[in-house]
Amino acid sequence: MLCEMCGKDVPLTSRVRLEHSILTLCPDCARFGTPVDPPPVPPSASPNSGGGFRPGLAVARATGTRRRLEERDLYQEIGEMELVPDWNRRIRVAREALQWTPEVLGKKLNEKKSVVLKIESGSFRPPDALIRKIEHLLKVRLRAEPEPPGQS
Ligand SMILES: [Zn+2]
Repeated sequence: MLCEMCGKDVPLTSRVRLEHSILTLCPDCARFGTPVDPPPVPPSASPNSGGGFRPGLAVARATGTRRRLEERDLYQEIGEMELVPDWNRRIRVAREALQWTPEVLGKKLNEKKSVVLKIESGSFRPPDALIRKIEHLLKVRLRAEPEPPGQS
């Protein structure tokens, strides 16, 4: 019998519901869906006897995509560059040194003037990509240098 998902020829397939369609799948692929005809459970068997059909598994699979997204968000947060404590002041000083108005800097960054003002007041921490752009445009260093080892 051929599995409709991986195409493997297996002696035993089962009918499984997977995203609104019923497929005939090999035991490996069947784990990704919900069995259409769950095997009858003997009344004597305790639900905690281990192994066998676990309805929770299908639910865990269904939320897998969302969990991966959350992990990616978390990673981005960890990956945020560490900035110097006065990063927002450095931006304003560098911008004024170039005699750019917040509007001019905003245009170059593809941001609104209000965003530039929020950044300079320190109330908005720009994403890493924007930090790099600002550093490049204003020729300033906003990222905190890693502390040199063995010096104090
Ligand atoms: Zn398969």
